[in-house]
Amino acid sequence: MKDIIIIGGGPAALTAALYAGRAGLDALMLEKQYEGGQIVTTNEVENYPGFRSITGPELANTMYEHAKDFGSIMKYEEVIDIKIEGDIKKVITGVNTYESKVIILSMGAKPKKMGIDREDELTGKGVSYCAICDGGFYRKKVVAVIGGGDTAVEDALHLSRLAEKVYVIVRKDSLRANKSAQKKLFETNNVEIIWNSVVAKLNGEERLSSLEITNNKDGQVANLEVNGVFVAIGSEPSTELVKDLVALDKTGYIIADESCKTNVDGIFAIGDIRTKEVRQVLTAAADGAVSIYGAEKYLINH
Ligand code: NDP
Repeated sequence: MKDIIIIGGGPAALTAALYAGRAGLDALMLEKQYEGGQIVTTNEVENYPGFRSITGPELANTMYEHAKDFGSIMKYEEVIDIKIEGDIKKVITGVNTYESKVIILSMGAKPKKMGIDREDELTGKGVSYCAICDGGFYRKKVVAVIGGGDTAVEDALHLSRLAEKVYVIVRKDSLRANKSAQKKLFETNNVEIIWNSVVAKLNGEERLSSLEITNNKDGQVANLEVNGVFVAIGSEPSTELVKDLVALDKTGYIIADESCKTNVDGIFAIGDIRTKEVRQVLTAAADGAVSIYGAEKYLINH
């Protein structure tokens, strides 16, 4: 029987593991893919205190090693079910069933899809959700990035160093990204921003060859020839596993306040998967620390 099972392996989970290990608790992390979560697909992080500039994978690896230093263990297994039997929580993976007193949900979020025709069919054939992973396929090519947030701007800056031309398609007449990233984008020669526009259609036979874009101010339709499109329009929580276990808000995030407690005793939710104002590496890591404080209190009483 474990004290704590942490489901997920991003910054929130890794911080919870560090704090759990340091508090002398027996914690197991279960991660289906790789440690680091979404920051692994981030080129540069420049707003995590203590690191003026660090790549996402480097920050993830440092956090992982730090958690391991305090004795927490990570296993690469996908959790497929959770069963509650009184105070005991059973966590079922494809290969094992584990028991614990506390569960910390940290499955994070995944990129949102545009929800247009042929999006799934052309994913991997010109449509991508990860510029860091797939940018290398578009050296000297023409690409578009969709979105105006930090992810879109970071993706566009990363792609501008590889591709010949980068269009950024923004549905409003302003960007949501931080001002420092915006400044860099505006100063990049091979980037062109197409304002007030959305992608209406994906064209191409075997692969994507062009985008039909609609200007939402004047209704004009244009065809934009591109070799690839990177969708960066936000993310949605990965809550399929727990949608019948804990309370979610109407947009699908797990309802938990700054204490990270869910509506189920002994189950906490941390990082991007929970209701919160600001989703950043820093706030995810903070949740990890706070949840262990709550978990310790729960364990004393149970
Ligand atoms: P955001 O939700 O911040 O931005 C999404 C962007 O996509 C907005 O410009 C939004 O437009 C646009 N959008 C949403 N839906 C559509 C649609 N259907 N069609 C076209 N455009 C659409 O998501 P991000 O992934 O950029 O960022 C998420 C969080 O992660 C933020 O808090 C961000 O600050 C953080 N982050 C931080 C980084 C860093 O600090 N290094 C790096 C990356 C992310 P509109 O503005 O009109 O709603």
